[in-house]
Amino acid sequence: MGKATGFMEYGREVPQEAAPLLRIHHWNEFAVPLPEEKLREQGARCMDCGIPFCHTGKLISGMAAGCPIHNLIPEFNDLVYRGQWREALERLLKTNNFPEFTGRVCPAPCEGSCTVGLNGSAVTIKSIEKAIIDRGFAEGWVTPKPPAVRTGKKVAVIGSGPSGLAAAAQLNKAGHSVTVYERADRVGGLLMYGIPNMKLDKKYVQRRVDLMAAEGVTFVTNTEIGKDIPAQELREQFDAIVLCGGATKGRDLPIEGRELKGIHLAMEFLKANTKSLLDSEHEDGAYISAEDKDVVVIGGGDTGTDCVGTSIRHKANSVTQFEIMAKPPETRQPNNPWPEWPRVYKMDYGQEEAAALQGEDPREYLISTKRFVGDENGHVKEVHTVLIEWKRDDSGRFAPVEVPGSEKVYPAQLVLLAMGFLGPEPTVLEQLGVERDERSNAKAAYGQFATNVPGVFAAGDMRRGQSLVVWAINEGREAAREVDKYLMGGTNLP
Ligand SMILES: Cc1cc2nc3c(=O)[nH]c(=O)nc-3n(C[C@H](O)[C@H](O)[C@H](O)COP(=O)(O)OP(=O)(O)OC[C@H]3O[C@@H](n4cnc5c(N)ncnc54)[C@H](O)[C@@H]3O)c2cc1C
Ligand code: SF4
Repeated sequence: MGKATGFMEYGREVPQEAAPLLRIHHWNEFAVPLPEEKLREQGARCMDCGIPFCHTGKLISGMAAGCPIHNLIPEFNDLVYRGQWREALERLLKTNNFPEFTGRVCPAPCEGSCTVGLNGSAVTIKSIEKAIIDRGFAEGWVTPKPPAVRTGKKVAVIGSGPSGLAAAAQLNKAGHSVTVYERADRVGGLLMYGIPNMKLDKKYVQRRVDLMAAEGVTFVTNTEIGKDIPAQELREQFDAIVLCGGATKGRDLPIEGRELKGIHLAMEFLKANTKSLLDSEHEDGAYISAEDKDVVVIGGGDTGTDCVGTSIRHKANSVTQFEIMAKPPETRQPNNPWPEWPRVYKMDYGQEEAAALQGEDPREYLISTKRFVGDENGHVKEVHTVLIEWKRDDSGRFAPVEVPGSEKVYPAQLVLLAMGFLGPEPTVLEQLGVERDERSNAKAAYGQFATNVPGVFAAGDMRRGQSLVVWAINEGREAAREVDKYLMGGTNLP
């Protein structure tokens, strides 16, 4: 275990971040890593408690409590405390194919379940995870490890997000020949073209892709299965298929004025921004600019936050973010006890930056958008809103009720719709005859991942709906085990 008395001697420390008003001038990551001595102290805070809830990864009240990939957290905390970084890396890579991604973007449900957090501040697990893998790469300990033997079996993975990459990495490890198909021009799914560069630098995504290619995984980009290659053709060419196409069909807002220019789905905005940044440092102008505009982001979640941070870096005139739910409480409520994910008020990076510029959190709560109004050129100029209350309707369900007299008009020349996702795009599923569940996701039981079509498996957001990188990695790994069993009659994959 860490130091027996560490949690009493050291307080929680997390990496410092560059000041909001400095970091908004660039697209780079802005966390300043903790020095080794501090990291070892933080590792020492782990109590090695009898039941480490941090690595259970159970769903409680619909949200992850603990690490969904069951990282061996007390073990690597202890090894970091002792300065045994290489051994810590080995432990970490037993359960996580891509700690450089989770160490940067995971919301860290592990920390919400940390026992030290019961009456103090949780161990800074995510930062320790990131430090271990960053050190592993810096020291040259992370090298390609192609399988010693090939099985002769061929597997196609459709989609190169974290679920597809995790499935491909594991299946390749088992000796199968894996081809990953991606319709975008770059590999990585939402790691590449969803999460902005300042949260996850794309050089780290590409570094992992290059490593996997060196291990023998084949990547085919600019190829949409179902359009460029009929899905059925893959069934004939491969022994198994893993569907990892994500759930990127954005929820629209079909209200009056939706057809006006200047109203975009968040993903159109975020994807074009990152592509233009990577292609030309924005020199090509092939992105939707927020410069000098009043921006209204509709949707208070992570995607909305990324729209806020991106708009600010474009030098927007103002940014406002709408959230239809109430402002969360400052502390855990009795109906949200430890080790559940704490549903408390937080300022994420985008809101911190907007607050530094505009003087306050850009989020408006309990607000509903009624209509968009345009100018004489058919371009949006206003967003008309009303405040709401959540009240139980006749059937006992909570429903929004408008507050009379609370109408308000926001000026907006750019509106970004970040209200969540409706499920996967249908083409491949239809071509293969894969059944869908009631939420239109690919129907495949968790733990089995097999669809109704023999040899066709589904994982990640395409199966569970829009979720988290860590769940996508979990599903990719677990689906790979099932595919390996299907192909070989058994599996040694973890
Ligand atoms: C803006 C945004 C920010 C987010 N931020 C975070 C965060 O900070 N932390 C976090 O944990 N999670 C975050 N998420 C969620 C997380 O990114 C996803 O849950 C995760 O990427 C899902 O992985 P996946 O592999 O299932 O699918 P995806 O990452 O969506 O990848 C699917 C890939 O499949 C490709 N594809 C689809 N159909 C085809 C086809 N027919 N042929 C070829 N290719 C195809 C797509 O182009 C895409 O590249 C965020 C999501 C968004 C949208
Ligand atoms: S992957 Fe996420 S939940 Fe798991 S240890 Fe890392 S930060 Fe915590």
